[in-house]
Order: sequence, then structure tokens, then C-alpha cells
Amino acid sequence: MRVLISGASIAGPVLAYWLSRVGFEVTVVERAPALRKTGGHAIDLFRPAMEISERMGVLPRIEARATGTTVLAVNRPWSSRPARINYLKLEKMMSDRHVEIMRDDLSEIYYDAGRDDVEYVFGDQIAAISDDGDVTFRNGAPRRFDIVVGADGLHSGVRQIVFGDSFGERFLGSYISVVSVPKAVVDKIGPPFVSVMIPANTYTGQDKDVPTAAVVNYLVTSSAVSDDLAYQMTKLIFESLPELANSHVAGKEIKLETAAMGSPVPLHPGAIRYYKEKGVIK
Ligand SMILES: Cc1cc2nc3c(=O)[nH]c(=O)nc-3n(C[C@H](O)[C@H](O)[C@H](O)COP(=O)(O)OP(=O)(O)OC[C@H]3O[C@@H](n4cnc5c(N)ncnc54)[C@H](O)[C@@H]3O)c2cc1C
Repeated sequence: MRVLISGASIAGPVLAYWLSRVGFEVTVVERAPALRKTGGHAIDLFRPAMEISERMGVLPRIEARATGTTVLAVNRPWSSRPARINYLKLEKMMSDRHVEIMRDDLSEIYYDAGRDDVEYVFGDQIAAISDDGDVTFRNGAPRRFDIVVGADGLHSGVRQIVFGDSFGERFLGSYISVVSVPKAVVDKIGPPFVSVMIPANTYTGQDKDVPTAAVVNYLVTSSAVSDDLAYQMTKLIFESLPELANSHVAGKEIKLETAAMGSPVPLHPGAIRYYKEKGVIK
């Protein structure tokens, strides 16, 4: 029986591994040009995921690539000192078996576990699925499958193709209210808040631009870091904006012109040097 799985992140490679083990002929199609290595975020695996990984024989590899987080530091705008939480104690409270690993490392380990018995097609995606199993692709030739599985994430392309826009929406009893915070109010409160616009149609029913207060991301470092290193780090970030934007959509929002605005902590002299060189600050 031929199975097509869309998406090669976590669910796709794990399902492909198990289906191929019991005799299915499995193809995984992933729209990224290669297995994603953008870093992703840290994922905590608890008992069920640990047991599945153990049965796949990959638990030692996962444990070897664990992030090793021991402390969570929470920076708060009202305090100059971060709140520090002992992560080892926290994870013990949550589960008796646990490991934290970056998502892309986990994906690679699951992929490696099944890649010899599974056909992986990168840089392509399903364009259409007929009722009797004909699948057409954006790039590759059409093929027939007995089962098509959508493991292509929250905004699944397979779900969209098969069920259209309406499927999957279930009211969970929560509402989002989008409230305007005028620029004058934000300016009055000051850092860390800056005034930004939520573009019209970001949320369903939001037909106008909405001004709001935002807190931008800061890269915080110690004053013990040398000026030269801080300069090089700042320079590298702004010279790598295309790569950052490719890795995460939020990267598109990072702009040199606004980089020095609204910081609640003093800028490092190394960063100041770069911003002055670029004419961002005087
Ligand atoms: C900040 C953060 C922290 C999290 N922490 C945890 C945690 O601690 N523990 C935990 O269990 N989970 C955690 N999660 C959730 C976890 O990341 C997801 O549940 C998991 O990544 C889902 O895996 P997936 O394979 O279903 O989909 P995804 O990881 O979303 O992957 C979908 C894949 O499909 C591909 N794709 C998308 N569209 C198409 C298409 N049309 N055709 C082909 N391919 C396509 C994508 O490129 C991607 O490779 C966290 C998530 C976030 C954002």
C-alpha cells in the first residue's frame, strides 16, 4: 500500500518510520528544499515521546543533543534583574522522564531513523488530490497513492486542499479583542513600548489598521563583553537580515533604522559605534 505524507518535521518522519516498518511503501514530500535547519525552538519531550523515541532506537542520540538548559531567566520590563528559575527542578515536577532538544535536531534524528526505507522528496508540495488517489505536485510528475496524510503543520496544505477554508474551525470559547493604543499614549509610557500598526485584515473582522503598543526583541549582553565583540555582533546581525528573514518571518521586521529605538537598557558602546557608523544615531 502506497502512502504519501506531506511534511518532514516531527510527525511526518515518525509516522513514515513506523509505517515503513510494517510494510507500507512510504513517500514524504516536504516543501522546504532540504530538511529544515533553521534552528526552530526548544521542544520538551515527556514520557510518551520518550517511550516512542526509545522504541525507535533514537533516544541515546536525542539525549546526546539535549539543550542542557538548567536555568530559565525571565527578563521583566519593571526590573533590572531577571527572575531565575531552576529548570531542572521544574522539569522533575512535570514528568519523571524528560529531555529538551531543538526542534530541528529532533527532526533530523527522526528523519535519519527512517530515511533508508522511506522516499523523501524535498522542494515540492501537493497541488491537488483526486478522490481516487491521483496526486499532482507543484514540481514533480503526478503519482497515485492509497493514503495521503497531512503532517504539514498548523496551516496544513493537505487539509486546505481536501477540506477547504471551513474545516478545522471550532469555537473554543475564547475571543480576541483588538484594542487601539494611540501613538500618543505609547509615547507617554515610553520604553520598552513602541508604537506600531497592526495592518488591516491581520485578524478576521479587523478591516482597519489598528495602532498598538509593542515590545521589540532585544539582544541583551553583559557590559563585560568587549566593545569590539559587541560591534561585530551588531554588524553581523544587520548584514545577515536576508538570512534571518528566510529563517523566520519576524526577521523581515528587523530594520536598522529602528534598531536603536525604545531600548529600556543602555546600548552597548560597541553597538553604538556601529549605529553611528551607519548614521542611525548621532
Ligand atoms: C515556541 C514553541 C515551543 C514549543 N514547545 C514544545 C514542547 O516543549 N513540547 C512539544 O511537544 N511541542 C512543543 N511545541 C510544538 C511543536 O513544535 C509542534 O507540535 C511540532 O513541531 C509539530 O510537528 P509537526 O511535524 O506536526 O509540524 P511542524 O513542525 O509544523 O512541521 C510541518 C512541516 O510541514 C512542512 N510543510 C508545511 N506546508 C507544507 C506543504 N504544503 N507541503 C509540504 N510540506 C509542508 C513544513 O515545512 C514543516 O517541515 C512548541 C512550539 C512552539 C512554537
